[in-house]
Parts: sequence; structure tokens; C-alpha cells
Amino acid sequence: MTVDRLVCANCAGIVAEGRCPVCRASRQRMQRSGGLNPAMLLAVALLVVAFVVVLARLSG
Ligand SMILES: [Zn+2]
Repeated sequence: MTVDRLVCANCAGIVAEGRCPVCRASRQRMQRSGGLNPAMLLAVALLVVAFVVVLARLSG
């Protein structure tokens, strides 16, 4: 689902139109994350953490 088709739960308008503060906040969050969904970002973050832990063990 892209931000273009997302319907706001607050004003029932299209989020991309930014009719209410909730719309604008959602739109900004989407743009900042580059269109990636939160689960994807979480998976990437976990991978980075695992990588750092492995590096720390190797050097220690
Ligand atoms: Zn809204």
C-alpha cells in the first residue's frame, strides 16, 4: 500500500492530501522512511545490531 492510496483514520480523507494533522504526520513519516514499511526498517535495524555484536566478539 502506497501513501497515495492511504485513507486517514482521523478525517477519512486521502493521507497524501494532508487534510488534517494526522494526515500530515503520516505523510511526513512515510517520506522520511523512503516508502519502506516499519517491519522492514526493524529487520534492517536488527541486522545492523547483530552485525555489531559479531564484530565486537571478533575483536574482543
Ligand atoms: Zn486526516
